[in-house]
Amino acid sequence: MAADMTCKSSPCPVIGCKERRKHGRLLCLSHWRRVSRSVQSAVWSTWDAFQHATGPDRQAALLRYREAANQAIEEASSKC
Ligand SMILES: [Zn+2]
Repeated sequence: MAADMTCKSSPCPVIGCKERRKHGRLLCLSHWRRVSRSVQSAVWSTWDAFQHATGPDRQAALLRYREAANQAIEEASSKC
């Protein structure tokens, strides 16, 4: 299972974006800035929860992170 935020310099997941995101970042900086504060903090908090989750909680924590990440990508994409 690929963990988005642990990849070294990867392409930004926003469609049509040619920027590369930095290590530990979900999106490139210009797209990240388009994401609302509440979604940004959801991405960080769900990622943090996933990092600390163990056993059966880990899968649920990953799903919550994925949901927050998808919402961030959606917001960044829609404000192009
Ligand atoms: Zn981008």
